[in-house]
Amino acid sequence: MSFSFSLDCSDGAARAGVFTTPHGPVETPAFMPVGTLAAVKALDPMDLTAMGAGMILSNAYHLHLRPGDELIREMGGLHRFMGWNGPILTDSGGFQVFSLATLRSVSEDGVEFQSHIDGSRRFFTPESVIGIERNLGADVIMQFDHVIPGQSDEATARDASERSVRWLARCLAEFNKLDAADVSQRGSQALFPVVQGGTHARIRRDAAESVMGMDDWKGYAVGGLSVGEDKQTMYEMLEVVHEILPAGRPRYLMGVGFPEDLIEGIRRGVDLFDCVAPTRMGRNGTVFTTAGRLNIKRAENRSDQRPLDPGCACAACARFSRAYLRHLFVSDEILGLRLLSLHNVHFLLSLVRSARLAIASGTFDAWSSDWLARYHLRKMSV
Ligand SMILES: [Zn+2]
Repeated sequence: MSFSFSLDCSDGAARAGVFTTPHGPVETPAFMPVGTLAAVKALDPMDLTAMGAGMILSNAYHLHLRPGDELIREMGGLHRFMGWNGPILTDSGGFQVFSLATLRSVSEDGVEFQSHIDGSRRFFTPESVIGIERNLGADVIMQFDHVIPGQSDEATARDASERSVRWLARCLAEFNKLDAADVSQRGSQALFPVVQGGTHARIRRDAAESVMGMDDWKGYAVGGLSVGEDKQTMYEMLEVVHEILPAGRPRYLMGVGFPEDLIEGIRRGVDLFDCVAPTRMGRNGTVFTTAGRLNIKRAENRSDQRPLDPGCACAACARFSRAYLRHLFVSDEILGLRLLSLHNVHFLLSLVRSARLAIASGTFDAWSSDWLARYHLRKMSV
């Protein structure tokens, strides 16, 4: 079997497992660094391997527009194209169509929009997006869904959620059709459904039940969270959905990945996360440390000989002082962006590994309370 998920142990609702894909195993809980444009910004795949990244994420919308999914297929698929032979997940582009593109018009058939790059008119349907994701060739591909603003009212959330479920049926039919047509690729990809429903528990519950009734999926995603709602609401939505989703499949919380969100998500049974924050913040001069966030550009770091985080084993912390890293930023040296991005990605990978060890030893509650207390102790403004 190309895809499988085994649970090694659990501690409360937190789980430690292994998600096996055609490009290798992913120890869960896992943080997936984001390479939207087929590159984790400022990092080489060798950096990611050295840091122990299991699976990375890329994006169908962006790669379809540039350089084109057909080109990537001709170049041997996304793994070969970007020089990363580990597992990859592609997001369908639903989020980007609804957040980046302009002049959208949504119909039952799909979404017409203008490319954010050159203004060209495009039309995405569930079928065309599955075709794009097939060309890219990631291990896990996401369904095309109707993404709505985080604070949408109940009627809007239900309409979009139910459309997403109908689009999922079309994604699945297209996925099965392509699988049947190309025996050599059969079983090389897993299609994940996305449970939507905004901040409305009833709609989330209905969506989870509808999705589960359609297929024995290899994994499940929860989308549309951490988009402006308060934290307690996000946690409640996770609890509602996780009561329904099968325990024997990985659960992916889309677009969420700040340290405290990782810990609270893991506490509620999330297995996979992704977020652009570590590289985006790194490029802006901000890093995560076990004692909270730190802005390297601040004057107080000017002659600080300490590494970013004395407890961190990353390549930046092993060799460079805060004073040097601040100098790189102040001088616009590109190495600064790279080292801070590297530290931040390493930090989150290391955090989920620690969480996994705590789950394995049955100490997740104590470990997470200590970790969060230290992190919030002197949280610095950025
Ligand atoms: Zn570091």
